[in-house]
Amino acid sequence: MSLVRTRFAPSPTGFIHLGNIRSALYPWAFAKANQGVFILRIEDTDQDRSTQEAVDVILQGMKWLGMRPDEGPFYQMQRIKRYQEVLELLRSQGAVYPCYMSIQELDALRDQQIENKEKPKYDGTWRPQEGKTLPPIPPGVQPVLRFKNPTDGVVSWMDKVKGLIEISNEELDDLVIARPDGTPTYNFCVVVDDIDMEITHVIRGDDHVNNTPRQINIFKALGRQHPIYAHLPTVLNEQGEKLSKRNGAKAVTAYEAQGYLPEAMINYLARLGWSHGDDEIFSVEQFLSWFDLDHLGKSAAQFDEVKLKWVNAQHLKALSKEELSSRVKPFLSELGVEPDPRLPDICGLLKDRCDTLVALAQWVSVFYKPVEPNPEELIKHVTESSKPAISMLKDQLEVAQNWDVPTIALIIKDVLTQTNLKMPQLAMPVRVLLVGTSQTPSLDAVISLFTQKEAVQRLSKA
Ligand code: GLU
Repeated sequence: MSLVRTRFAPSPTGFIHLGNIRSALYPWAFAKANQGVFILRIEDTDQDRSTQEAVDVILQGMKWLGMRPDEGPFYQMQRIKRYQEVLELLRSQGAVYPCYMSIQELDALRDQQIENKEKPKYDGTWRPQEGKTLPPIPPGVQPVLRFKNPTDGVVSWMDKVKGLIEISNEELDDLVIARPDGTPTYNFCVVVDDIDMEITHVIRGDDHVNNTPRQINIFKALGRQHPIYAHLPTVLNEQGEKLSKRNGAKAVTAYEAQGYLPEAMINYLARLGWSHGDDEIFSVEQFLSWFDLDHLGKSAAQFDEVKLKWVNAQHLKALSKEELSSRVKPFLSELGVEPDPRLPDICGLLKDRCDTLVALAQWVSVFYKPVEPNPEELIKHVTESSKPAISMLKDQLEVAQNWDVPTIALIIKDVLTQTNLKMPQLAMPVRVLLVGTSQTPSLDAVISLFTQKEAVQRLSKA
């Protein structure tokens, strides 16, 4: 089998969101699963709408997710000369022709066709044909170049997602492949690039299904075989609309800032349109070894933030406390927290309660920064009946010789025996005073992760 070569070909005309990045994930995974090559190509020929900022989000998002291209990024704007060369070749073969129809004429043609209930398409006025006399060339008009689409037969391909697709050539008109200023158009550049970059599999959103027969005809005119196509169904937002920036989709990079783990993001996106049996949680390595084009979903997938958070929490839990502490550090510094060697143990204790690194950082910070106890909980739990016990606990902690969980557990037990209180009657107020809320992991473990001095000081506020 020949080497698999795939590409991600985003247009940097808006911030890439999760739906777009999934179109990068699958070609990347397919290349990796087959020891192939993954290429990044930035389709920036729409100069009015392309921005450097959007390119940066693409590069940063891919870097965060670890999707390193083996080749590229290639920028289409830097390949204009190459497109001109291929245009010349097509011209010399008589596969393209100049068309002088003005916008007004095209509009009138369209209106007429719509009125006649016909599908609007170019009518071939300027297409040369044996025995046909072309209209006189209007003076001072720069023509567009149109591609001579075959007039009969069908274009067909076996789509890896959608199955056999057949389009009759009669439905396709002669595509403009160069504008009056000579710049090439989108469908043409894609074909030239896919040929030059020796792409074997095109895996992209199904909004490109309509372009595919046109592209295949250009491949044919250039005497080349087209790649295998897999057109991915749309990703919908939670309201069931197509995911897009206009209806609230976030840039991929926003998820990094919100404390999602890249491996969780890949896991979640992988399942959004592909499956491996019933596996819900898997590592990047597993995904890359399992990915294939035969298990792509055929219907639209729906984004679900709750599910994404759940997947993230599973990955977060699976990390070692050392790894977690190194990942949470940037989020801690945003909170102005300077961690110390207690950090891994604090992360280990809290990881089960957090679904993002941001949530973890917030929890961790209570061990390093003064807390404002929740006033309602304070009134509810720090009462006249619990105060003597809190004070006794504080006194015993202050003189403890060892500062570890077993010692602290014994002290707590002793205070409970002496005061005749039940565990929650002591634990609730102590938690509120130490971390601000009554919901925490086990009390002895929480106390042990404060410095002795800090624990005593917080309890003195009862
Ligand atoms: N540039 C196109 C887009 O962002 C993708 C083209 C392709 O994958 O063939 O939608």
